Amino acid sequence: MSTIKILRSSTHNALRSSLGWCRHAASRPRYDYDLVVLGGGSAGLACAKEAAGCGARVLCFDYVKPTPVGTKWGIGGTCVNVGCIPKKLMHQASLLGEAVHEAVAYGWNVDDKNIRPDWGKLVRSVQNHIKSVNWVTRVDLRDKKVEYVNSMGSFRDSHTIEYVAMPGAEHRQVTSEYVVVAVGGRPRYPDIPGAVELGITSDDIFSYEREPGRTLVVGAGYVGLECACFLKGLGYEPTVMVRSIVLRGFDRQMSDLLAAMMTERGIPFLGTTIPKAVERQADGRLLVRYRNTTTQMDGSDVFDTVLWAIGRKGLIEDLNLEAAGVKTHDDKIVVDAAEATSVPHIFAVGDIIYGRPELTPVAILSGRLLARRLFAGSTQLMDYADVATTVFTPLEYSCVGMSEETAIELRGADNIEVFHGYYKPTEFFIPQKSVRHCYLKAVAEVSGDQKILGLHYIGPVAGEVIQGFAAALKSGLTVKTLLNTVGIHPTTAEEFTRLSITKRSGRDPTPASCCS
Ligand code: FAD
Ligand code: NDP
Repeated sequence: MSTIKILRSSTHNALRSSLGWCRHAASRPRYDYDLVVLGGGSAGLACAKEAAGCGARVLCFDYVKPTPVGTKWGIGGTCVNVGCIPKKLMHQASLLGEAVHEAVAYGWNVDDKNIRPDWGKLVRSVQNHIKSVNWVTRVDLRDKKVEYVNSMGSFRDSHTIEYVAMPGAEHRQVTSEYVVVAVGGRPRYPDIPGAVELGITSDDIFSYEREPGRTLVVGAGYVGLECACFLKGLGYEPTVMVRSIVLRGFDRQMSDLLAAMMTERGIPFLGTTIPKAVERQADGRLLVRYRNTTTQMDGSDVFDTVLWAIGRKGLIEDLNLEAAGVKTHDDKIVVDAAEATSVPHIFAVGDIIYGRPELTPVAILSGRLLARRLFAGSTQLMDYADVATTVFTPLEYSCVGMSEETAIELRGADNIEVFHGYYKPTEFFIPQKSVRHCYLKAVAEVSGDQKILGLHYIGPVAGEVIQGFAAALKSGLTVKTLLNTVGIHPTTAEEFTRLSITKRSGRDPTPASCCS
């Protein structure tokens, strides 16, 4: 079915292209808009702006329901308001705290015994930056001639979107030739007493007025680990509750190494544990009851803040998708390779899609490519393979391609060679920072020039290191090429050009010196 849809869509686009399709079509348009986008986050905005740039008449709806504790925000979606951007800023704030101590070792005269973060000031700075991005986004939409309505849109039928311009007002309708659903997701809450009333999520933490204090972070995925780490770096006391394993879906060895790094930095893990209830004590603090699913023992502890980081649910429930006939799976929308839903003129992009990475650059590129296919005669599909990603912990973990387990599962252990090594960043020596968890590996084919299937790196600025290697991997990087690449010394990225020890050899992957 998907091939038929792609062909149909590309024939249609080629026709539009040859006719010089544009918004000033000779005849009166059949619909109010060429494109209505539901959701003004990374995916929706990229799609809307690109479509308008191709001459389409575009309307974009974006609406944020406040969280249970009342947090709300402006246009731009998760990444800008409650995701990547505030997270990266808090990550940076926590790294700077560490850097102050390092500065002293490097000879700076700073009283590092008395440094304390000002949580309120940090939150204000982060929120001010977000508000400036919200403003720039609105200006950008106006400049690019994308109409924006700050309302929740839902389907009345497959070409008609219904909305309420302001609370209490009458329902309005617009029609569109195409509809793109880019509504993203929101954090889940566990179904236990006190969860919604007393807990917060990543939607709240970046604008949280109170200092988080002793914080229970429930969940050991990206959000849980990143939040726990910046809280620790800022001087608070996070504990991470892990239901099964840390970073499920990632390379096991790297995930375990990351957890060990966090433990060494004083972040405790409550392993194989699930929350049972949250209660407010007389002193205002939160009593959390939990159960260890391995020992079946119940326990409890008291925290100032409970942060749920147990994954996200797609926002399909307000869309009235049944009226349009769009098929879903769990709380996500099912699409084909061209992001078409079960209704050919309705598409979905970004986090709302079933079975694709939930990452901003994925959302942006897929939205942009979709607009080009719809309005500029393009046939290029989004390539969801080998998307690089980073977990922003103090030593970051970044990877692209296959984990060691996946490579072995798909190719067989005999056909896989793993090159690996620990390394010592030069800048770690003077402040005597632990190098125990600085490690990298390349998962490669065993034969020929040894095509690289996956690259994994734990260390400083991992995202910056892996980004370029991701392009190389997508271009067919081999071990032979990697080892023929001259490194940039002294960097940590150069360690990838020095990987000479295979796991199969059993040789010690710990380096003796930095420069030979
Ligand atoms: P969203 O950005 O969620 O946008 C959807 C928008 O649609 C929202 O504004 C929503 O309120 C609105 N909406 C919903 N329903 C309707 C409706 N019916 N009508 C109108 N509007 C509606 N990714 C990275 O690549 N790097 C990172 O470092 C990173 N860090 C993250 C940190 C956190 C804490 C979180 C939670 C996520 C992070 N992500 C990161 C993931 C990234 O934020 C998402 O993949 C990305 O924002 C998805 O974009 P989207 O457009 O699909 O959805
Ligand atoms: P994840 O799905 O990655 O992790 C959820 C975690 O919560 C898992 O450890 C899971 O355990 C646990 N969990 C799930 N349900 C329960 C429950 N009922 N009780 C206790 N624990 C539970 O979700 P996140 O919210 O961390 O991240 C969502 C997405 O956002 C990511 O997939 C990622 O794509 C994106 N993101 C990207 C970032 C980046 O690029 N740096 C940063 C943050 C988010 P189990 O393994 O047992 O299921």
